[in-house]
Amino acid sequence: MRGVFVGRFQPPHFGHFSVVKWALGEGGFEEVIVVIGSAQESHTVRNPFTAGERFEMIVRGLREMGIDLRRVFIVPVSDIAMNHVWVRYLELLLPRFDAVISRNPLVVRLFREYGYRVVMPPLFNRGLYSATRLRELMLRGGDWKALVPRSVAEFIESIRGVERLREVALGD
Ligand code: NAD
Repeated sequence: MRGVFVGRFQPPHFGHFSVVKWALGEGGFEEVIVVIGSAQESHTVRNPFTAGERFEMIVRGLREMGIDLRRVFIVPVSDIAMNHVWVRYLELLLPRFDAVISRNPLVVRLFREYGYRVVMPPLFNRGLYSATRLRELMLRGGDWKALVPRSVAEFIESIRGVERLREVALGD
């Protein structure tokens, strides 16, 4: 059983890593394909980090959480303008998969239309672990580091990610 887990991971946080851990354990998946969605996006308030940066953060976080990287594929995928054929497009780019692991209503809908099994992971403290909330904390100067593994926080600091987010959030 190989599952697809799609996200923007802007940035990846404990909620995302917990989903992967759950999928490879209780969820019953042997392997998970982590799709870095909206790979073309970066340097905006909603999508501050590049696909490559998100890739690196995901690898660091998975390692720190003790997740076996031999069971995880990471594939950056740019968006396309046609939702109707998006799953077909993923079939073109990804290794074969059996199911999608998602709670995103659009993602669930599109995979169902192609006949895939949909597995909804549990919510891991959604009130706390949310990338929107995390970016707000970065903008306001709150404790965003509590929401990500230490190695991810260190990476964001090394690329001066908070400064970037604040700069792109400024009006002219
Ligand atoms: P996201 O990073 O916000 O979330 C990814 C997943 O993690 C979601 O399923 C979400 O429910 C889950 N999650 C987040 N916090 C959690 C927590 N605390 N506990 C449990 N689960 C948690 O990403 P997203 O915006 O859902 O990503 C969807 C991606 O798919 C986007 O990049 C979007 O552009 C892409 N997409 C593209 C097309 C297209 O190109 N036509 C169509 C559909 C979707």
